[in-house]
Amino acid sequence: MTGSSADRSFMTHLQCSACGCIADHRVLQTVCPSCGKTLLARYDLSLASKVLTRDPSGNAPHTMWRHRKLLPLIDDTNKVSLGEGCTPVFPLHRLGRSLDLKELHIKDESANPTGSFKARGLSMAVSRAKELGVTEVCVPTAGNAGSALAAYGAAAGMRVHVYVPADTPALQIDECRTYGADVHLVAGTISDAARAMNEERTGQEWFDVSTLKEPYRLEGKKTLGYEIAEQFDWDLPEVIVYPTGGGTGLIGMWKSFEEMGQLGWIGVQRPKMVCVQSTGCAPLVRAFENGSGSSEFWENASTLASGLRVPRAFADALILGVLRESGGTAVAVDDENIVSAIRAVASTEGILLSPEGAATVAALPLLKTAGIVQQNTRVLILNTATGLKYPEVLRMAAANTRIDWKQTVAYIDNGHHSFKQS
Ligand SMILES: *Cc1c(COP(=O)(O)O)cnc(C)c1O
Ligand SMILES: [Zn+2]
Repeated sequence: MTGSSADRSFMTHLQCSACGCIADHRVLQTVCPSCGKTLLARYDLSLASKVLTRDPSGNAPHTMWRHRKLLPLIDDTNKVSLGEGCTPVFPLHRLGRSLDLKELHIKDESANPTGSFKARGLSMAVSRAKELGVTEVCVPTAGNAGSALAAYGAAAGMRVHVYVPADTPALQIDECRTYGADVHLVAGTISDAARAMNEERTGQEWFDVSTLKEPYRLEGKKTLGYEIAEQFDWDLPEVIVYPTGGGTGLIGMWKSFEEMGQLGWIGVQRPKMVCVQSTGCAPLVRAFENGSGSSEFWENASTLASGLRVPRAFADALILGVLRESGGTAVAVDDENIVSAIRAVASTEGILLSPEGAATVAALPLLKTAGIVQQNTRVLILNTATGLKYPEVLRMAAANTRIDWKQTVAYIDNGHHSFKQS
């Protein structure tokens, strides 16, 4: 069944990000059938450029579905939406002043359903899975992808299996259970959770929505880029600072810029894309610094920023490609600075960052030193979840003795960053 022409998708096929081979989007797909890498959704953008305008019409929904025709869903009746996306961008004047940055902006994803930007990807992936007949889904997760899948799966009437490290913030595990998911606690990291899941799902008809192992979470995440372009009046920021785990948001934004370029909606200027990780788990930073095209497994990964505890990203080559193509970089910050940054931003701007979002703030002095960011650079940082999802970290931020934000910024600025590489 296809939607009416008014709401049709311009998707035409899937294409492998590595070998370029084509796959059929009308059937359920996972990774590239010939090389096993990530499949990307492709659209007829030359036709779309004749039909669509970049400013959505007045009756476009105030969710990520406002660019519905550039999303992969065929029939609107399969849409599983809880109001994700269309999050605010605003300037951080007080923090910017203390860091001597005149154009510091934040896109705050904390108002998404389930409190994190994982909602975008899972709304899209669950909608497409529903459209293609899936009734049971599974995911290994550091927490937020699990609660988002649990919520959208519940809304779609699917059975959801979540495999999560046992030391994930307890609240995120309770969320998954409350949404009715079957939750498995696994010792170790998301990599161990993935291994446990793959052992237990053999012989089961569970559809795996692991990061970049199916094509559609990426399509949900790319809506970040469409929104950013619209919010910056189609003149993209010069630097985007992104807390990177599996890299879906970073790759998704870059894909959206490419699409909008082909649509004629934006010019040739692209942001420098910056990957921020934790010194306790920085496989992409190490690979970037080594000039490598792929990353190595990070042993004993450990950080309070649980969303960044990904010892090896499946799509590492795509992430590193975006960093290099954009002229960006990769930097690591330590947990102590993350907690200080939560405190600093909460007390200067009234925003309760997630530890992942706070990592982007802690990275700013490093980026100034590296010359990527200067006083007048238009910078956008992403807060990927609400701080309320991390009560344990919040307690540390509340007890932080460096209560004076000026001192905090000075502390971060004073080179209190360790670059331990393993
Ligand atoms: C998953 C997650 C990230 C990392 O996102 P990727 O797209 O996997 O790189 C960052 N922040 C939060 C809060 C997350 O849940
Ligand atoms: Zn391939």
